[in-house]
Amino acid sequence: MNTNTLRQLFTFQSIFDGLEDAVICHDLELIITNWNPAAERMFGYTSYDALDENILFLVPEDKYNEQSVIINSLLEGKRTAGISTIRLSKDSNAIPVSITFSAISDEEGIVIGVSQIIRNIADEQRAQREQAILAAIIEGSEDAIVSKNLDGIITTWNKGAESIFGYSAEEAIGQHISLLIPQERLDEEAHIIENIKQGRKVDHYHTIRLRQDGTPLDISLTISPIRNKEGIVIGASKVARDITDRRKAESALEQHAKKLAILNSIGKSISERLDVNLILQKVTDATTDLTGAAFGAFFYNKVNSEGESYMLYTLSGVPREAFSKFPMPRNTAVFHATFSGEGVVRVDDITKDPRYGQNDPYFGMPKGHLPVVSYLAVPVISSSGSVNGGLFFGHPEPGRFLAEHEDLVVNVASQAAIALDNSKLFEEVSELSQKKDEFIALASHELKTPLTSMNGFLQIAQRITPEGAGRNFIEKSIRQLDKLNTLVSDLFDISKIKAGKLEFHVEELDLSALIVEICDALAQTITPHQIDLGMNPGLVVMGDRIRLEQVITNLINNAAKYAPNAPEIKVIAEKNKDGEVVVAVKDYGPGINKENQSRIFGQFYRIQNHQRPVSGLGLGLYITREIIERHGGRIWVESEEGKGATFSFSLPSSLA
Ligand code: ADP
Repeated sequence: MNTNTLRQLFTFQSIFDGLEDAVICHDLELIITNWNPAAERMFGYTSYDALDENILFLVPEDKYNEQSVIINSLLEGKRTAGISTIRLSKDSNAIPVSITFSAISDEEGIVIGVSQIIRNIADEQRAQREQAILAAIIEGSEDAIVSKNLDGIITTWNKGAESIFGYSAEEAIGQHISLLIPQERLDEEAHIIENIKQGRKVDHYHTIRLRQDGTPLDISLTISPIRNKEGIVIGASKVARDITDRRKAESALEQHAKKLAILNSIGKSISERLDVNLILQKVTDATTDLTGAAFGAFFYNKVNSEGESYMLYTLSGVPREAFSKFPMPRNTAVFHATFSGEGVVRVDDITKDPRYGQNDPYFGMPKGHLPVVSYLAVPVISSSGSVNGGLFFGHPEPGRFLAEHEDLVVNVASQAAIALDNSKLFEEVSELSQKKDEFIALASHELKTPLTSMNGFLQIAQRITPEGAGRNFIEKSIRQLDKLNTLVSDLFDISKIKAGKLEFHVEELDLSALIVEICDALAQTITPHQIDLGMNPGLVVMGDRIRLEQVITNLINNAAKYAPNAPEIKVIAEKNKDGEVVVAVKDYGPGINKENQSRIFGQFYRIQNHQRPVSGLGLGLYITREIIERHGGRIWVESEEGKGATFSFSLPSSLA
């Protein structure tokens, strides 16, 4: 049968023109008779190039055999399955293809040719390869990767899921996902499915799931919707990471941080507080917390005349009543090691210890007392070597105190010992300081009486002595006596402040008038200094006239004393915007540096570097501040070294 006949036979070639697959027909000599546009697109040859040519130009040499095998089997009337093979394009590219062969027969049923439907499977192969890679990744992942449908039924289960959850793929697939969810978290699933149905991903969700053996696992879940080709959500993929170890590490870190914070706060309170009972309470609370003890206590190592320790302690973890049946922490076998400073006693079960139960009258714990099984006791030893006391901890279960707890308490105990040592020193210092205050009070009081009489006698002597050298001496004596009087008065005031006995006689007073009076009186004594007064009249305050006079005089005297080479002193008194009366005394002397500005209001503080020695005790500003603050006011200094100083105080206005 010639090729022309074949051509006519296949006039319906145009049908194939729209196909995506290449359709090529050839006769039994392999001469191409039909070549559709898809074949042209796939191989790059036009039908003009291809028609009447032998189809072998598309076939790599090593595959020639394929053609004859298939054509032979077609001739024998056998059906052939498609093959996957390679064909060559015009530019010699190897194209992966799948080919379906069909026999073409004439009216008598005699095979006269073959049609080949050729599909480019490059994309398909790539997709398959990618899928294979993905599958390998999923299988190789240590994370559990699981998918489920929207009813929650597990549809895939990788090796990671097997090792994390313990179920094999056979056991898990087909089961409901709630298999893994603890009872109390079952409603999480509904929430997750709800998100998935709406196409939302659930990311890094930290939760608990169960292994096959029932042990809980801390896991981090990421759940994404799975969609079909149409984009409709049909299930969910779930990646679960076992974060139990991470959680453990985190919680160990948290614990560690907590311990550090507690230790730090103990250290801080020890260095800040001198109230030893507070410190001991804090130490007992913190160590009870750190050791996980049911209770903790501090016992002093004080012994009465019979040699018994007596109960003086701080207690933590239980109310005091719980210790009502506790015997005095006497010199018993169990307590001895601690109170003698021998060392730490840490016992998993004290009731089984040979030292336990040896002493009259209880032979162990008295009935009704807290049960103590785990026992830890650490002596608190002073730097002098004497034992101040001990920290004791108990727990009703055995083996609760570990070496790390012992280390912690030993550490804290040494800090507590320092606190106790300091508090002893503090007590001694306060005792001394109290004695000093008592002495100053007594001495200044005793000095006042003769000073007052001397002043009286000198005034009389001044009046009756005619002008001349004698009277001059008397006047000098009066001025020196004034200075002495001020010093003694300051000392007397200090002792009154200390004893809380500085009294005030408050009245409504015209501060402007008082300032004018003071300035007039001082004008004589502070020469060559001159006061430049700038003041609003009629400034009324509630105050003690004598004490406020003392304040203003002290500030003006200081301005003259410490600025000997700057004769101008400014005194300003006015109301500020808050209605307070503010008085400022300004000089143009050496000024005061920042560091000293905060110190000069303290007791006995004097700046040493004045050019010439100036008499004083460093009490004036301390007393001044006390007086102002007791009036409800404030006092402050503004100064720059070399540029003078301004001392100001404010008083609440009585009319405000
Ligand atoms: P005293 O004058 O007895 O030393 P004060 O308490 O009045 O005590 O003053 C404390 C210190 O403050 C003084 O020793 C002085 O060094 C400093 N000081 C006070 N006023 C001035 C001032 N106007 N200029 C510079 N220094 C001053």
